[in-house]
Amino acid sequence: MKYAFVNGVILDGTKDMEPLRGKALLTDGRKIAGITGNLPDLSGYDVIDLKGRYIMPGLINMHVHLAGNGGNGKPQKQKDYKRVVDRLFSNPLTAAAVHKMVADYAKIELFSGVTTIRTVGGLRDLDTRVRDEISSGKRLGPRILAANEGISVPGGHMAGSVAVAAHSIDEALAQVDIARSQNVDLIKLMITGGVMDAVKKGAPGQLKMSTEMVKAVCDKAHSCGLRVAAHVESQEGMKVALSSGVDSIEHGAKPDEETIRLFKKTGASLTTTLSPALPYALFDRPVSGATEIQQYNGRIVFEGIRDMARAAVKYDIPVCLGNDVGCPWITQYDFWRELVYFHKYVDVTRRDVLYLATLRAATLAGIGDLTGSIEEGKEADLIVTEGSPLEDLHVLGNVRMVMAGGKLIRAPKIHRKAAIDARLDPFC
Ligand SMILES: [Zn+2]
Repeated sequence: MKYAFVNGVILDGTKDMEPLRGKALLTDGRKIAGITGNLPDLSGYDVIDLKGRYIMPGLINMHVHLAGNGGNGKPQKQKDYKRVVDRLFSNPLTAAAVHKMVADYAKIELFSGVTTIRTVGGLRDLDTRVRDEISSGKRLGPRILAANEGISVPGGHMAGSVAVAAHSIDEALAQVDIARSQNVDLIKLMITGGVMDAVKKGAPGQLKMSTEMVKAVCDKAHSCGLRVAAHVESQEGMKVALSSGVDSIEHGAKPDEETIRLFKKTGASLTTTLSPALPYALFDRPVSGATEIQQYNGRIVFEGIRDMARAAVKYDIPVCLGNDVGCPWITQYDFWRELVYFHKYVDVTRRDVLYLATLRAATLAGIGDLTGSIEEGKEADLIVTEGSPLEDLHVLGNVRMVMAGGKLIRAPKIHRKAAIDARLDPFC
């Protein structure tokens, strides 16, 4: 189906985007066929009158776990994840149910205006399977860049759930081979712990993986043409990651001069995720359910992520946004909040935030020639909002239309979680 969007305001996703009025945006079934001022003959097109609404590239959520959607809002206790996951996949019925759940969550991302996601820790090989089902047209969903299971260490972050625990460098390298056989798009490492793993005050993001293991995995991944994204929540962890060849730091921590120097030297990028730390840092404890230690560490992590993001902007380190959905309090339809937080806490303009969440992210993900901006020949990945996101990012929380690879969803409906939304709204 060919579409002509008329009477809208176009934001093209580029760094200096200015509202473009009086033009028609044409799509040819899959791609953007053109932006034209002189209306051509529109016979053969389904004409969509935007009535002054805004149209821009679909958002790109660079840090997604497809195994959760809002959780119960309470922090999870460390448990024997591996046993739970093994049991789920040992029974074909429960395995099929989990597969469907993951695919449904991906669809929620799309319906909320996110047309590309990068998954960084999933259950078995479900992320690549759902990716392929979507790209072959069997399912509706966003474009997926998938890491499948991450690589962690025994007792490390997410070990047993969305990451495997490697007991040795050989085991870590064997997992890279497994990931390659699943045709992943990137490799994910869990180098440090997280907020919930820490048992002591002031110890979130403790280094768990050896420098040797990080380096061995990076070397092998790079030799196969795969980039490495690493979960890191401490300064020490960032130094290990950056000096060992990691391509992107996920989350981050308070930087020092050495960290900035390493970022600049290696060209590595940062994926900022304010969403997962915010509830532990800023909610009252009876609401978040966090212990005093978790709240204390949550604040360290939140401020560290914020400060690293500010430094990235200041020193021109490549940065993009992810919301780490899968963590408690974060839903698959809430990526827009990360943009609001970034604008508010990192203190950058709305225009810059929109760029970071569209063309900048696409470029950093290696798909900048495919998507991320409104340009002739690119995939038709588009969203329509009621007002201008340049004036109010909240309009992204309720997109009116979504187009993914030329397929139009005219009135995307999302089942929202009112209790979670009510807790987060005061911070947006
Ligand atoms: Zn994560």
